[in-house]
Formats: sequence, structure tokens, C-alpha cells
Amino acid sequence: ATHEETLGFQTEVKQLLHLMIHSLYSNREIFLRELISNGADACDKLRYQALDNDSLYEGDSELRIEIEHDAEAGTVTLRDNGIGMSREDVIQNLGTIAKSGTAEFLKQLSGEQQKDAKLIGQFGVGFYSSFIVADEVTVRTRRADLPHDAGVEWHSKGEGEFTIADIERDARGTEIVLHLKEDAKEFADDFRLKSLVRKYSDHIEVPVRMPKVDKDDEGNETYGWETVNEATALWVRPKSEITEDEYKAFYKHVAHDFSDPLTWSHNKVEGKLEYTSLLYVPERAPFDLYERDGARGLKLYVQRVFIMDDAEQFLPLYLRFVKGVIDTKDLSLNVSRELLQQDPQVEKLKSALTKRALDMLKKLSKDEEKYQTFWNTFGSVLKEGPAEDYGNRDKIAELLRFSTTHTDSATQDQSLAAYVERMKEGQQKIYYIVADSFNAAKHSPHLEIFRKKGIEVLLLSDRIDEWLMSHLTEYDGKSFVDIAKGDLDLGEIEGEEEKQAQEETAKAKEDLVKRVQESLGDDVQEVRITHRLTDSPACVVLPEHEMGFQMRRIMEAAGQ
Ligand code: ADP
Ligand code: MG
Repeated sequence: ATHEETLGFQTEVKQLLHLMIHSLYSNREIFLRELISNGADACDKLRYQALDNDSLYEGDSELRIEIEHDAEAGTVTLRDNGIGMSREDVIQNLGTIAKSGTAEFLKQLSGEQQKDAKLIGQFGVGFYSSFIVADEVTVRTRRADLPHDAGVEWHSKGEGEFTIADIERDARGTEIVLHLKEDAKEFADDFRLKSLVRKYSDHIEVPVRMPKVDKDDEGNETYGWETVNEATALWVRPKSEITEDEYKAFYKHVAHDFSDPLTWSHNKVEGKLEYTSLLYVPERAPFDLYERDGARGLKLYVQRVFIMDDAEQFLPLYLRFVKGVIDTKDLSLNVSRELLQQDPQVEKLKSALTKRALDMLKKLSKDEEKYQTFWNTFGSVLKEGPAEDYGNRDKIAELLRFSTTHTDSATQDQSLAAYVERMKEGQQKIYYIVADSFNAAKHSPHLEIFRKKGIEVLLLSDRIDEWLMSHLTEYDGKSFVDIAKGDLDLGEIEGEEEKQAQEETAKAKEDLVKRVQESLGDDVQEVRITHRLTDSPACVVLPEHEMGFQMRRIMEAAGQ
């Protein structure tokens, strides 16, 4: 080995390694899934690049992953003949964490095993999970487009630094040797490894093979390989033949998540558009859900050939929590991110997939408990929907959940359908109030008259709520009314007598109104008699078309 140097891991890697080793102990076996997943990704990438450069195969186009073990030495070796890595690739990929927001994410980790295990799961630990079971890891690799003397050897004990050296390497692709820790030697076992491959990697299209010894009748041994996983892309198989566990395992592969998905939807469509989609709703939010450049989008395949990860063009932003795969015949194999932006087929696929995703959520909403989990996690993202996707606003409206005066609970669990169901006789509008916090909304003086009359009001206090309501004009033919704005007309809910009484009061108090107006001067636009209060003497109301309090604050914060 030449040109050997020792480099330090990026601080974030050190932190992650430390936390992972301590918090993922009871989840140790996932290291195999992560490494197989990387091998499969590497094969996918090579196949894609070889589409217009056949020579990358170097005469060996049978892509595969091999797993060997040596119980005596206590090692497990994974090998793939995928794309491989250059020296720079290795330093970048196996020395740093490129994901944005990593530092903030790591700050949230508490040091408590169980809590951290969950958090790390949503982060996706990948290659570094090797160090959960190994106290020494050696990686040998060569990138497919580089000569044999451009091989690289990476070595580390996971303790803050790694060495890297140039080596001669005939085989392209990557080999990873794990020197198992004393208490992880159990993984250097044929049966154990096979069952883990089947458990986690059946759905991976690349064959995963392990050595096999055959004995003939005379006792002669021959050595060969046996493919251990099913090795067909999961989404290609008929729905009826795929088990729940297989769907779940596949989710973990595409979403880099440890926990099961909440739900999924698998569709094969033929006709004008031809595609297969497999969409999932995660149970937990990824750490970068609100990061501008957070990972989002689907894994894109064209006729089964992997094209790219995180293809964002197939779903609107407000559905960015959806994970999964789209495989289509309607795009060309050499489509790039730039070309995707111009391709009219993409727009059609996007609109079809958006409908699929909304339908999937609608179905999920039939299971109240699961839907509540979904809503608590992703509700405020879905609330971006009516503004972004006007065409689907009715479908989105059905999926919204609110806090209301019906329950007076901060849990957002009431649908608009349930509100409409409970509307008073003669009530034609859906009433709401927006405030900075749930408690401020719940105790607003504007509610007094509504509580007295038993009319339900939506209690809104998410940052996005005013934005949402400015794009949600009606539901089921009923318009929305902000009870803190403009004249309050309770329409036919109020009887004639009540109206007359109100008019009489207004007349009797004309003098008072005049005096208040004079003393407040230019601080207010107008002073009026109100019937919306029953206990408080007065309240401030915004003119009907004025920007609300929340929006004003947002605009001010943005320097407007
Ligand atoms: P992720 O797979 O989520 O990107 P990993 O930690 O698993 O994160 O891997 C980091 C990067 O290292 C990968 O994105 C890839 O570029 C590179 N890598 C890891 N394993 C391999 C491999 N077997 N062959 C080629 N590249 C690999
Ligand atoms: Mg990975």
C-alpha cells in the first residue's frame, strides 16, 4: 500500500458513532441490512451509468453481492461488483456526513438508549452501523471507470480516525471486512447470516449469494454459490403475493427508516400512462422535514432500471413526507434531473401520484388511531396543501383535522365533515378563530357569543393556519368565517326578536359609541356596538379584508 494517510472523522461522525454503538445495541443486526442496501445501491448506479458506457462492466455484467464469513477469525465480509469508489469518494463518504442539519439533529440526542435509538433510526445510519458489531473495519474498493492501480483501502477502529491508502485492485466494486467484536461473534454463522438476508433483503433485486459446499456420493466436495434472497424487485411482483412483512422490509430499504410505515399503496397502471408506484407514509417525521434542502421525493426507476434517488418532481411539497418508488415506461432511460423539469410526462405522473397519495391518506383516515398518529406528525405539512395545490383543495380539506370548541382539546382530531354534521339549524358558515396559541384561541373573548349559543368554532393556532384559511374558501358549500374579523352575522341562527332587540340596544347606545370614538381618536378605524360579547365589555376586531395577526407577524419577521 502506498500514499497512506491517517485522517480524522468529521466531528458529527464521531458523535454519531459513539451514540450508535451505545443506543443501537438491541438492534445490532441492522448492520447487515445497511451494508447490503449500499451494495445494491452501488449495483444500481453502475447499471445506470453503463447504459451509455458498456465498458464499465469490464466484461462482468452479472451484478451481485456476496457474503462470506470466517467463524474462527470472527469476520464477516460483504462484497459487491457495483460502481465502487475513488479515493476522494471514500474520504467523502466514509469520513463525513453530508446531510444538512446533522449537527442540529445530533444535539437532540439525549444519551438515553431507547429515545436515541428511535431518533437515530429516522436519521439513517448507513455504513457507520458496521461499528455496532465490529471493532475494526476494512474497506477495499475501486471505482468502475478507474484503472486497477486506483484501488483504495480504508481502515478504521471507529475511534475518531481512519487510514486510507492506494492499493492495486483487480476487482471493481467494494469489499467490506468486519472484524466482529467479542460479543458479536454470533454473526459469523451461516445460518444466522442467511436468515438475516432473507429477513431484510429478500426484496432487493440484486442477488445476494453465499458460499455453498456440495458433496457428491463419493464424498468429494465442490464449492459454489447459492443465491439467498428472492432477488426480484418487490414492486414488480403481484400484490397478492407480497406479504406485509415484505412491504415493511422494503419500506425500510427505501426510506432509510428503522420503524414500520403507517400505511402504503401499491399500484400498477396501464393505459395512457404506464407506471408502477409503491408509496408509503412513515410513522415518524424525518429530522429534516422542515429543512429547505431536506431529502424528499421518490426513488425513480425507468423500466426497472434505477435512475435516481430523491426525485422531487413527482409529488408536491405538501406531500414531501411520502416515501417510495415510481417505475415508469413513459420516461427515457437517459433522463436527468434537469430533463425531468421539462418533460411534460412528469407533470402527468405527478398529478396521478398526487391523487394516489391523497387516496391513500383518505383510506388511512378510516383508522382513527393511525390517522391521528399521521396527523400529529405531518398535519402541519398537509396544511400547506390548499395553497400549493388548488385543484385538489377539496380532497385535502377532507383530510384536515382541527381543534374545536366541541372538544376544547388541543388535540387536532375533528374533521370538517364532523363539524358540518353538528352545525346548528340555520347555520350556514363554518366559524374559526386564529390565535398564537391553543390557549389564547380557546379563551378568546370572541368566542363568548358562540359558546352561549352552542355554535362550534374551529380553534386554530399553528403557524400555518392563517395561510391555510386564506386558501380554503369553502367546504361542502359552506364558507369559512373568521370570527375576529368584520361584522358578525350569525344569519338565520338568530331569531327575528333577537335582531330587533340588538337594533334597539344599538340605538340606545349611540351616544356612548360617539364618546368612545372621540376619546380613542385615530387609534381605531371605527367603534361599534357588538353582540358578540356576553361577558367582556369590549374587544378589538380586524376589518374583514385585513391581514390577520399571525400573517402580520410573519410578514414583519420577514422584514416586510
Ligand atoms: P446512504 O446509503 O444513506 O447514502 P451510507 O452511510 O450507507 O449512507 O453510505 C454513504 C455513502 O457511501 C453512499 O451514499 C455511497 O456513496 C457510499 N457507499 C457506501 N457503501 C458503498 C458501496 N458498497 N459501494 C459504493 N459506494 C458506497
Ligand atoms: Mg446506505
